[in-house]
Amino acid sequence: MGFWGGPGWIDFERLDDDVSRAVIGEKSGMVVTDTLKYLCRNNSTWQWVIHGDTGPYREVVCEELCRTGLFRVAKRFATCGLSDKAEVRLDGSEARVRCRFCGHRACPRCSRNGGLRMLERVTGVLGKRPHGAIMHLVLTQKADAAETLAEAKTRFQKKWKRLEWFRRDPDFIGGLASFHLKLANQDAWHYHVHFMVESTSSDKCLALGERMINAWRSYVTDETGSAESMFVKVLCDAGETFVFGDSGQGELFSEPTDPIIKALSYGLRDVVQGIERWVSEGSSRERIVEFIVVLRGAKLHRLYGNWRIAAAAAEDEVVEPEEADKPEIGGREWVVAGSMEEVLAEAKCGVELAVSLLRSLLRGRNGRSPVQGRLSALCRSFL
Ligand SMILES: [Zn+2]
Repeated sequence: MGFWGGPGWIDFERLDDDVSRAVIGEKSGMVVTDTLKYLCRNNSTWQWVIHGDTGPYREVVCEELCRTGLFRVAKRFATCGLSDKAEVRLDGSEARVRCRFCGHRACPRCSRNGGLRMLERVTGVLGKRPHGAIMHLVLTQKADAAETLAEAKTRFQKKWKRLEWFRRDPDFIGGLASFHLKLANQDAWHYHVHFMVESTSSDKCLALGERMINAWRSYVTDETGSAESMFVKVLCDAGETFVFGDSGQGELFSEPTDPIIKALSYGLRDVVQGIERWVSEGSSRERIVEFIVVLRGAKLHRLYGNWRIAAAAAEDEVVEPEEADKPEIGGREWVVAGSMEEVLAEAKCGVELAVSLLRSLLRGRNGRSPVQGRLSALCRSFL
């Protein structure tokens, strides 16, 4: 497997200077564009862990940003992850990654942040009160290869607006809708929604799900003459307040032991996923450009009903300072061990400190996130 890589012999100080002087259409702009594209093509090892095999996609995004004169943004995007630091407690009990996010919506890694924040808001709501039954719905429309992403989105959102009567349905308590912009076969946009819905009981939930699906299928049929069947699954019945507990840091999380919480967490994580799986390696340049444009103004996640109200109320409450910001004593202080890149390179060479850092990073983490999967695969050779 070719995941061992590096940014090559790029002089980053010089690159910063070049970026600040780059001009569109002139040689300075072209050199910066080429350098940043080179960086995307040559993922470092840690970048591979966090971005996966999205190099060709990131290269197009980078080129597009440079083409419009956004050289600084493009540089941050191309180097996202290179400055991530590994931190350990002095007593060696724990390790964590301090991420330097580029924050771009089209970034495979950073696009997951919005989803993770949404996941926290939902678990915050469902961790505070007894819950109703929860179902997962997927509503799709026929993909059309002749259509741009913007057109697919407009067509979809028109039907979604029609469906929003569910907000007034007596059986509807709350929910989270996440819109996925995925390229399907034949390079057509498969725009669809994953919808988590809470209702009083599983019977009511299913009945509501059926009403929504029937309505949705009739909207699709109005449009294209027929409709395929839609996915619906009740994840859990009504019950006591969920205890989500501390599941770990971002992508490096532990699988919950409670089967209901497990089903719900995976459902939620699937719903709020980032863009990594939306743009396949074979996506054409044209499609990627459409994608960046639509992504810019898209609202990918939307909370409804009680979930929206309760999440907003929780955000108004006074937040305690994070544990990490409180002074630590007795060897519990956090220190920077180096960049993630350095730690991985050292661990590969058998440096004991680096190996034990990675080991504690992965310890007890058995979630199935792509990042975790890649980091484990990488470490398998020396841990
Ligand atoms: Zn990023």
